[in-house]
Amino acid sequence: MLYCYFTMTEPRKKVLVVDDDVILRELASDVLSEDFEVQTAQDGQEGWEKARAWLPDLVITDLMMPRMHGYELCSLIKGPNGLPGIKVLVSSSKTFTTDVSQAMDAGADDYLVKPYRPAEMLERAHKLLSGALPAAAAQAPAPAAATTPSPAPAAAPGAGSRQLYVRFWGTRGSCPTCNSKVAGYGGNTACTELRIGDTLFIFDCGTGLRELGDSLAAEFKGRPLAGHIFVGHTHWDHIQGFPFFVPFYNPANTFQLYSVHGAHGGLGSIFSKSMSLDYFPIPLSSLGGRLDFVELKGPVDIGGARVTFQHMNHPGVCIGFRVETQGRIITYLSDHEPFSRLGGASELSLRQDGEIAAFARGSDLVIMEAQYTEQEYAARKGWGHGTYEDAAKLALASGARRLAITHHDPYHSDAMLDEYIEHCRSLIRKGGGATECFGAREGMRMDL
Ligand SMILES: [Zn+2]
Ligand SMILES: [Zn+2]
Repeated sequence: MLYCYFTMTEPRKKVLVVDDDVILRELASDVLSEDFEVQTAQDGQEGWEKARAWLPDLVITDLMMPRMHGYELCSLIKGPNGLPGIKVLVSSSKTFTTDVSQAMDAGADDYLVKPYRPAEMLERAHKLLSGALPAAAAQAPAPAAATTPSPAPAAAPGAGSRQLYVRFWGTRGSCPTCNSKVAGYGGNTACTELRIGDTLFIFDCGTGLRELGDSLAAEFKGRPLAGHIFVGHTHWDHIQGFPFFVPFYNPANTFQLYSVHGAHGGLGSIFSKSMSLDYFPIPLSSLGGRLDFVELKGPVDIGGARVTFQHMNHPGVCIGFRVETQGRIITYLSDHEPFSRLGGASELSLRQDGEIAAFARGSDLVIMEAQYTEQEYAARKGWGHGTYEDAAKLALASGARRLAITHHDPYHSDAMLDEYIEHCRSLIRKGGGATECFGAREGMRMDL
């Protein structure tokens, strides 16, 4: 007797893996291919395009990626103009609780910490697709309209066109401070000026930005001023000087402010909210000067310089910058807690730390945070900051010519900082490095 079995097989569900790390992307793809139809994308932008075209059942996305990060991809998929019915699993090596909650706020259905066991990835995917895990309760915020870079403003008049220097206007981290014990290094928070010929660059808008604004107003007097402001992230100590920058109020002036899309919305909306009436008497829309917000998707070329960015390990979205111009490289890395500090010496953590070092490789000047001593760090692990030893390691791994330590803890006096920076120097020497290390001080100018 002949028995015939006809089995009705359901079509395989579709999973899109979005990750800029080729090893993890291929690993996830191999594992998931056992049970699903899989496609891959190498960053959020490609992920969004493939998700719209292919309509997968599940998107598994990394957070820190070039062009578009995972929070934005998540917000786009889950937003009102998104792709209903698609589940999102965020998979990241970031272990800060802030990142987990921000990913869920952006609409993620689940969060899987890297490195993971392949079986765990497969299990999470099955659970999400069978509906066994509840979707995140929070509704995704509306995605902001894409910001288009405006044409570069006319170069500001100024000194000779070949000058290249850095000046520190704020070197303190977390909170401004003012007393006689910190006067040497200064009490204003993060703000660094870079002049390349006649082009003005500013990195971060901490309280140091106020004095930079006064200095520029005096330098340019009645002449129009244009500038390019790069903001690594929007924690208070990096934006608190923003409303006090006098040149913003002059209608003749033009500025472009660059960063990436926020975890909860557009860059412009973050700054607009920071100046809402609950926080400041003058709304952003009332600034007299022109201010364009540019959400970075890749390198930008400005005034003969190329600026690239790299995601840092800090709660929320945080990027560092590398500027290449006139055969010189300046790298700005703040705020950052090395991956191996949190993830141990795993292959993944070491590779990620290696990527940060590679980003700074060959720099004439690395401006890097070091907020804690090793002893302090033990009680502050997971706060998103590193130590003097971490800065020394970065100097050795990158082979930078100079290392400026910044983002000084508000509790560190001048005497303590002198000692800690000397310790950092000795670590570099012991490691066989030749990097010249110093503590960034308010008002300090360095020609490159
Ligand atoms: Zn900071
Ligand atoms: Zn921060």
